[in-house]
Amino acid sequence: MSKQILILPGDGIGPEIMAEAVKVLELANTKYQLGFEFSHDVIGGAAIDKHGVPLADETLERARAADAVLLGAVGGPKWDAIERDIRPERGLLKIRAQLGLFANLRPAILYPQLADASSLKPEIVAGLDILIVRELTGGIYFGAPRGTRELDNGERQAYDTLPYSESEIRRIARVGFDMARVRGKKLCSVDKANVLASSQLWREVVEQVAKDYPDVELSHMYVDNAAMQLVRAPKQFDVMVTDNMFGDILSDEASMLTGSIGMLPSASLDSNNKGMYEPCHGSAPDIAGKGIANPLATILSVSMMLRYSFNQHAAAEAIEKAVSLVLDQGLRTGDIWSEGKAKVGTQEMGDAVVAALRNL
Ligand code: NAD
Repeated sequence: MSKQILILPGDGIGPEIMAEAVKVLELANTKYQLGFEFSHDVIGGAAIDKHGVPLADETLERARAADAVLLGAVGGPKWDAIERDIRPERGLLKIRAQLGLFANLRPAILYPQLADASSLKPEIVAGLDILIVRELTGGIYFGAPRGTRELDNGERQAYDTLPYSESEIRRIARVGFDMARVRGKKLCSVDKANVLASSQLWREVVEQVAKDYPDVELSHMYVDNAAMQLVRAPKQFDVMVTDNMFGDILSDEASMLTGSIGMLPSASLDSNNKGMYEPCHGSAPDIAGKGIANPLATILSVSMMLRYSFNQHAAAEAIEKAVSLVLDQGLRTGDIWSEGKAKVGTQEMGDAVVAALRNL
C-alpha cells in the first residue's frame, strides 16, 4: 500500500530548501521503491495569506491522514505585527499538539569535514554525536493559565504556567531511554529540580522509568550546568532528555557546536512513531529569496523520516552518505563555508546530493 507524505514548505527559505529535499526524497522513492505519494499544502504565513489562519482545518486533516509530514519553516517579518494567537508559529505549535507529537529528537552531529566551521576548538567537538530528546507538547509553552493582568498598584504583570503530569514525563523518559539503549547507553536527564516543582516530579518519574532500563546509565544535571557543559565538554553526552523549554534552548546551543544550524534535522514523533520532520532552524528571512540557504538540514530530515517512520534504514543511510560525500567534495553553502572550499547555492547543493545518491 502506498504511503502518503504531506509536504509543507512554509515561509522564507522554507520553499527553497524544501525544493531540494523533495528532489532527494523523490529519487530515494524511486531508487529504493518506497511507494511514497506526495501532497503539498501551506502552513504559517503562507496559510495566513491564503486562509487567514496559520493552520487551516483542512491542512490539519490532511496531516492527520498522512503517514508523515515534511515541513520547511514558518514565520517572517511580514506577519510579525499580527495578533499573537494567529501568528505563523502558532500553526506549528498547533500541528505538533494536534498530532500528539510529544517527542522531539534533535541530533547534533559534527561531520568531520566541518570541524573547522564550529566556533569551538576542533578537539572539543571532533566526533561529536549527541541526541537531544525534547518534550514537545507540554510544559510552559502550552501551560494554562497564561496572560497579563493588572495588579492592585496598576502595574501590569505577565505570567506563564509550567505543568507536567507523570504520564507526560514517563512517555518522554521512555523515548530517551529507548534511544540511549540503541546508541551509547548513557542518558542525561536535564531539569531544574533545585528550584522547580515540575522538575522535582520530572526527576522522580525519570528515576522510576530507569528501573526498566538497567542497561542504560542514567545521570541528572541542572539545566544551567548542562548549558555550560555543552560548550565545555560536549562529548560527555550521549542522549539528553529534557522538557520543552530547556530542550528548545539547549538544542539551539548544541546546534552551534556543529558549525551551523543549517546542518541540523529534527523529528517529532507520536506514540506510534508517526512523525513530522523539519530542520531545526527557522525561516531565515535575512537570506530568503537569495538562493543561498543550506538545504542539508531539510535533506537530513528526510533521512530521519525514512528511519523513524518507515524503518527504511538503507535508504536513510544512503542519504546521509550522499551528504557526507558532497562535503568531501568540498562543496559548502555560505553558513558552513571556510577558506579553500567551493561556495555553492541552495540548488547546487541539492543537485550535488541528488547526484551523489544516484551514484551510490
Ligand atoms: P532562524 O533560524 O530563521 O535564523 C537564524 C540565523 O541562522 C539567521 O542568520 C539565518 O540566516 C541563519 N540560518 C537559518 N537557517 C539557515 C540555513 N538553512 N542556511 C543558512 N543560514 C541559515 O531564526 P530567527 O532569525 O530567530 O527566526 C526567523 C523566523 O523564523 C522568525 O519568524 C521565527 O519565529 C521563525 N522560526 C521558525 C521556526 C520553525 O519554523 N521551526 C524555528 C525558529 C524560528
